[in-house]
Amino acid sequence: MITTHMNGYVQEGSVQAANHRERAVDCPGDDTCLVKPPHCSAHMERIQQYQEELRKRRDEDGRGRHDIDPNASLRLKKLSQNPKVGVDNPTFEGKENAAKDVHRQAPVDELEEMLQAVKWVQQCLNDAQSQQDTELLLQLLAKEDFKCAYNIYTVVSQKMNRVNPTSPLTVQAQDLCSEVQKILKSSQQREGLELRALLTNPHLQALMQAHDSLAVQEMAEDNVIQYLGETVKMVRLQKTPDTPLGATVRNDTDSVVVSRVVKGGTAERSGLLNEGDEILEINGISVRGKHVNEVHDLLQRMHGTLTFLLIPSSQIKPAPHRQTVIHVRAYFDYDPSDDPFVPCRELGLSFQKGDILHVISQDDPNWWQAYRDGDEENQLLAGLIPGKNFQQQRETLKRTTPDKSQEQQGKRWYVKKGKKQKKKNASTLTKNNDGDDFLTYEEMSLYHQPANRKRPIALIGPTNSGHDELRRRLLSIEPDKFAVAVPHTTRNPRLHERNGREYHFVSRPGFESDLAVGKFIESGEYEKNLYGTSTDSVRHVVNSGRICVLCLHTRSLRVLRSSNLKPFIIFIAPPSQERLRTLLATEGKTPKPEELKEVIEKAREMEQDFGPFFDATIVNTEPNEAFLELRRLIEKLDTEPQWVPTSWLC
Ligand code: 5GP
Repeated sequence: MITTHMNGYVQEGSVQAANHRERAVDCPGDDTCLVKPPHCSAHMERIQQYQEELRKRRDEDGRGRHDIDPNASLRLKKLSQNPKVGVDNPTFEGKENAAKDVHRQAPVDELEEMLQAVKWVQQCLNDAQSQQDTELLLQLLAKEDFKCAYNIYTVVSQKMNRVNPTSPLTVQAQDLCSEVQKILKSSQQREGLELRALLTNPHLQALMQAHDSLAVQEMAEDNVIQYLGETVKMVRLQKTPDTPLGATVRNDTDSVVVSRVVKGGTAERSGLLNEGDEILEINGISVRGKHVNEVHDLLQRMHGTLTFLLIPSSQIKPAPHRQTVIHVRAYFDYDPSDDPFVPCRELGLSFQKGDILHVISQDDPNWWQAYRDGDEENQLLAGLIPGKNFQQQRETLKRTTPDKSQEQQGKRWYVKKGKKQKKKNASTLTKNNDGDDFLTYEEMSLYHQPANRKRPIALIGPTNSGHDELRRRLLSIEPDKFAVAVPHTTRNPRLHERNGREYHFVSRPGFESDLAVGKFIESGEYEKNLYGTSTDSVRHVVNSGRICVLCLHTRSLRVLRSSNLKPFIIFIAPPSQERLRTLLATEGKTPKPEELKEVIEKAREMEQDFGPFFDATIVNTEPNEAFLELRRLIEKLDTEPQWVPTSWLC
C-alpha cells in the first residue's frame, strides 16, 4: 500500500520519499501488494467501458483539451448541468443555483412556451367557449403588464427558495457552534451572553447533532449518481495555497483510493471526500492506473476548483460524532523523518518529550491526528503521531531487541519499580512484562488551583544546585504564605522540641510500617535514626491555606505524583561549572573540579530521565534572578490554569 499526501505542499515525491511511503504501517512488509495486475471483474470492465465512452464523447465534441486543461471536463460539465445530479460545491449557493439554472429557464422563454402551449390548445379545442377562453389567455400573456408581473414573481420566488434551502449548508453545525462559543467566551456583551446561553442549551445541541447526521446523508445522496450501473459521486473542492485539501491517497491494485482525511483540510471540512472513496478522475483526468506519486504531482499542478469523480466507499459512513479532543503529554521524542512506519511522512508531526499535544482524532488507532500545544492557530492541518498502543508495541519491540546507542542517549524513559511501590496508583503508567514502566503519552487536563488549596511547590535538583537556598528564601520572606511539612523522625525529642512542631516523633516500628504502605514522599537514615516527610504532613500545610515548599530528589517523584497532592514540580538546574564554583565560593564552599562536574552530570541525568515530569526549569546562574523567576512561577499558578495529569483530577 502506498500513500501520498494530496495537499500539494510537499516536496516532489523523491525516490527516497516514495520508498519510505511504500513501507507504510498499514501494510507492513507486504511489498507484493504494490505491483499487482489490474483485476478484471465485471465492475472494472464497466468502469473502463464508461471511461471509454466518455473519451469518445469528448472526441466527438471535438474538445480534446481535457488532457491539457485540467479544469475542462465535458462530461463533468454535462453531469453538473443535469438537475438530477445536483452536484456542485458543498455550499448552498453553488448547489442550488446549478440545479435551478437548469430547472428555471429565463422568464421570457417560459412565457413564450406558455404562449405556444395555449395556441396549441386553441387549435385542439374547437368549441366557441374554448376559443373565447384561449383567446383571452393569449391576450393576457401578450400584455406588457403581465410580463412584468410574471418577471417579478419569478425573481421573488427564486429568492424565497434561497431563504428556505432544501439542502443543508453544512455538516458541521456542531463544530460551528463550538467555534462561536469559543469566540463568545470572553464576551461580556448582553447579546453575546444570551447567544452563549442559547448555544449551550442541550435541546439546541441535540438538534444540531440530529441536523449533522441528516445533513451528511443528504449531501451524500445529493452528489451521488448512477452511471452505467455504478454509483459515482462528483465532488468539487477548492484548493488554494492557504487551504490544503488534507487527504492522502493510496494505491489499491490499479486504483487510487482516499486513504486518510486529515482534520483541518478542505476535504475534511467539506465532509464530501471520505476514506475509502476511489478516485476515478480529477478535473477530467483519469487517475486509475496511476501511481500515487503521479497523483500527487498532478494535484500539485492544480489549483482552484478541483472536481473529483469518485466511486464512494462501500463502507457505511458513521454519523458525525463530536470528536473528543484529548490532551496528552508526550514522554518520548518523535521525528517522523526518522520513522519508516509513518504512513505519510509529510503529515507527520514532530514533538519532544514533555510537549503537550492535542489529539483530535483517534479514528485510526495506529496514527492519531494531533496539534502541538500553541501551534493550533498557525498550523491548519493536523499532523500524524503514533497512537498510544502502537507506540507501546514499538517500545516493547525495541526493548526485546535493544539498541545500545539509543539506550545510552536515553531516548526511552522507564523506571524500575520498587517492590513497595507496586500497589501505587499507576493508572497512567504502562507496564511491560518485566514490571518496568515506560510512558508514551499521559492524558492531561487544565487545572486552576483554588485560592484556599494551593499546590505544593517541589524544588528538585542535585545537591549544590541551590534549591535549598531558594526554599529558605521563600520561607523567610513570607512565613505566613509558605511553610514546610513537619517531618517524622524516630529519634528522641530534644529539650526545646515539641511533638508536631519540629518533628513528629514516632517509634521505629511505627515509622517502618508507614513507610511500607507508602505514606512517605521521601525518607532517609541519619545516625541510626529514620527521618521522612509524609504526604499527610504536606496535606496538612495545603489544608491550612499555605504553600508547602519541598526540596526533593527525583526518586520521590513517583510517590509525589500518585499522592493526589497535585505538586508543581520545578527543576533547579546548576549553571556552568565555572559559575557554580564562584557561587559556591560565596557560601564558603570549595568543591573539587570533579565534584562540580558531578553536580552538572547529575543534573543532566535528572533532566534526561525525568524532564517531562518537570513543570518548569530554572537555571540557577544568578540566585537573585532565579528567586524572582521562582516567585513569578508560583504567582502564575494563581492566575493561569496549568496542565496536570487527568488522573489527578479523578
Ligand atoms: P536533626 O536530628 O539534627 O534534627 O537532623 C539530622 C538530619 O536529618 C539532618 O541532616 C536533616 O537534614 C535530616 N532530616 C531532617 N528532616 C528530614 C526529613 O524529613 N527527611 C530526611 N531525609 N532527612 C531529614
